[in-house]
Amino acid sequence: MTTKTPEDFASAVETLRAALRAEVTDLAEIGAVTLPRVKLSTRAPVEPVAGPAQAKTPPAPTSAGPGPGAAPPGRLQILQQETLGECTRCKLHRGRTHIVFGVGNPDADLVFVGEGPGADEDRQGIPFVGRAGQLLTKMIKAMGQSRDDVYICNVVKCRPPNNRDPEPDEVEACEPFLKAQLEILKPRVIVGMGRYACQTLLQDRTPISRMRGRWHTYEGVDFMPTFHPAYLLRSPEKKREAWADLQLVMKRLAAPSGPPD
Ligand code: SF4
Repeated sequence: MTTKTPEDFASAVETLRAALRAEVTDLAEIGAVTLPRVKLSTRAPVEPVAGPAQAKTPPAPTSAGPGPGAAPPGRLQILQQETLGECTRCKLHRGRTHIVFGVGNPDADLVFVGEGPGADEDRQGIPFVGRAGQLLTKMIKAMGQSRDDVYICNVVKCRPPNNRDPEPDEVEACEPFLKAQLEILKPRVIVGMGRYACQTLLQDRTPISRMRGRWHTYEGVDFMPTFHPAYLLRSPEKKREAWADLQLVMKRLAAPSGPPD
């Protein structure tokens, strides 16, 4: 057995300190905790932070899932490759680089749905990989899950030009594929992200600020509206409300199947 030196212990403590600092910073960034005005390390002083903090260098998504051309398994694969194919059912196909079908666990209990791909997503063919996606990844991690545990997709699968809202005819053309995904996935909970996705899917013009935090139903599945991660980047004071929504989702997933509280 090798003898540990004081330097070994100091190194282990510093490693633990760095891991703890990263974990707390992530939780602060999603609004789950507020960092106290203390320095977390005497070796590498950090700036005191009041309220939710922004990570200096956001980590890459923990799971990219299947990339363009890679296939999710089973019925999702058939839906993606054979039914959707190189879809031209609406005008959004003209400007796209990749169809952004969806990524994650085909047995997921939890599905996140946004409105549509942005530039990074269009380039990579994977939903939520830009800055907003990195925040979503942290939110999922704070829920005790990873991107591999959940499923992530959008209302429309091709990027609207200049990131405009999808138009009614585009939603009409693409929503059947979202419904088919959900029919295959059979999740227990859907989290709708952002005004557009929630209002469109629920056919309800109520502002997202009043829709969030309450259970709704989409295609027979419990649906929790919350703020879009891109909005949370612009309005960090709303992160606490989004985190409260996700706590309701965690409680729902931890409870036996049945109607929500
Ligand atoms: S947005 Fe949907 S319906 Fe329109 S072209 Fe893309 S995959 Fe097809």
